[in-house]
Amino acid sequence: MAPDRNDPLAGPFWQAAANSELRITWCEHCDRAVWYPKADCPQCQGELHWRALSGDATLLSWSEVLAPINPDHAPPYITGLVCPLEAPEVRLVTRIVDCEADRLRCDMPLRVCFRALQPREGQPFMAPLFSPC
Ligand SMILES: [Zn+2]
Repeated sequence: MAPDRNDPLAGPFWQAAANSELRITWCEHCDRAVWYPKADCPQCQGELHWRALSGDATLLSWSEVLAPINPDHAPPYITGLVCPLEAPEVRLVTRIVDCEADRLRCDMPLRVCFRALQPREGQPFMAPLFSPC
């Protein structure tokens, strides 16, 4: 199923992805990223804003999925935990593409790329995925 671009919390993330932008929520008062999106900052309860990131990141961890565990995603594919350059404390759950799993290394530099994913039902949607630089 495609993500809901009108979702009050996560919708702006998917709208940005449709425009080839990687955006996450940020508290200007604390000057820190807040991820996943929330209604307000868990630290100061301040308002959160969506901030565009460069798309540069590093790879924290990954797993190659070989079995069909989600009908919307046909294996094989690689899931990854990715840390954006501007917010290394954030863990983006994403896919690693354009690389074999045995060539991946912890802390390797990655760059965002935007690809259309086709769910089993509904329209394809753009998602921020990552590949080695
Ligand atoms: Zn805050």
